[in-house]
Amino acid sequence: MELPKYSVGIGDRFAHQGTAQLDAMLAAREQGVEIAPVWNKSHREHTIVGSTPADVRREADAAVASRGWTGPYFVDADHISLASVDSFLDASDFFTLDVADWIGRPAPEDDLAQFTGRHRSLVGRLEIPGVDEPVNVSEHTVLQAGRKYLLAVREAGRIFRHVAKAKGEGNFVTEVSMDETDRAQTPVDLLFILAAIADEGIPVQTIAPRFSGRFNKGIDYVGDSEQFAREFEQDLAVIRFAVERFGLPQNLKLSVHSGSDKFTLYPLMHRALKRADAGVHLKTAGTTWLEELIGLAMAGGEGLQIAKEVYRAAVGRYEELCGPYASVVDIDRSALPSPEAVDRWDEETLAAALRHDPKCARYDRNLRQLLHVAYKVAAEMGGRFTAALDRYAGIIGENVTENLYARHISPLFLEK
Ligand SMILES: [Zn+2]
Repeated sequence: MELPKYSVGIGDRFAHQGTAQLDAMLAAREQGVEIAPVWNKSHREHTIVGSTPADVRREADAAVASRGWTGPYFVDADHISLASVDSFLDASDFFTLDVADWIGRPAPEDDLAQFTGRHRSLVGRLEIPGVDEPVNVSEHTVLQAGRKYLLAVREAGRIFRHVAKAKGEGNFVTEVSMDETDRAQTPVDLLFILAAIADEGIPVQTIAPRFSGRFNKGIDYVGDSEQFAREFEQDLAVIRFAVERFGLPQNLKLSVHSGSDKFTLYPLMHRALKRADAGVHLKTAGTTWLEELIGLAMAGGEGLQIAKEVYRAAVGRYEELCGPYASVVDIDRSALPSPEAVDRWDEETLAAALRHDPKCARYDRNLRQLLHVAYKVAAEMGGRFTAALDRYAGIIGENVTENLYARHISPLFLEK
């Protein structure tokens, strides 16, 4: 099972927007660009929403059937570990093995010695096509990389074999993710991570490193975008090199997590991908739920009322809702509008505060981030919330498709 060159992870908290999301891929196809949709949902999201992996499978199959989508599509068990993978085995055909927690745990000295021995040929001045300067690799570089990543990759191997035993090797796509950690990984780190992955026999098709800068949920990139561009280009070069050198799958590509709303980066990534003729997986998740809220606000009436109630509850439950996302939100709490003020807003004011249009003076990045992590409140509304999603499906769907297509797919994948 092969992941195509371009793919987008389209999480959907309440499993109502599959068709609207797929419409964005159809719009891209009309422009001549094939993008495989990947419906991703993590164990964390399932727990908070009260959904199951089978719900995601049903949603994906239904969307594909309703639009007659003929291309490949996938259901991603996002950020799973050995402890959480079992409930995903039936429904998923894409597994994101999250081993970030294992980074830096010391591997046995014998294993480290074996690792450095096996990769001694990389020591010296290493020329990687696409990287301007030769990279100086010392014995110490290899040993340090082994100390940081060897055990994490071993764990990925254990999860991979567990999934392969259940599903059969070749029947699913494997991604290895190391993004949910504080320290960024350099292109040289990536080289040795891939070396270890090859040693472990994992047929990895996408790899999600931690890039430098901040990838907050639902807002733009914060950091040095030129440095990101250099790093991204070097990562592409390292991957091409590693595929040949270590015999990894030819379609191996980068996966960019918390990839929604990184408007500053898309043109830079587009340029780098074209130059290298490389593919990418862009993983988004919560951005669709925010479009649901925008659609509800725009609908007025009960829709607007629900959006305001979610906001009021979110302000009151700030710590609880932000806790699980502490490392990926950056909210200036004192700048949040009061629920009383928001209650007085009309449709367009709330929609404009939420909508990610950086040029709009009414756009409010604090309110947007808080609502991004507040889907638990909507989940607790149960049938009242999903009934509103059904009732206002038209206007919500338009927002979902437009957001994915115009703000994400177009700048990243389409020729200007
Ligand atoms: Zn992630």
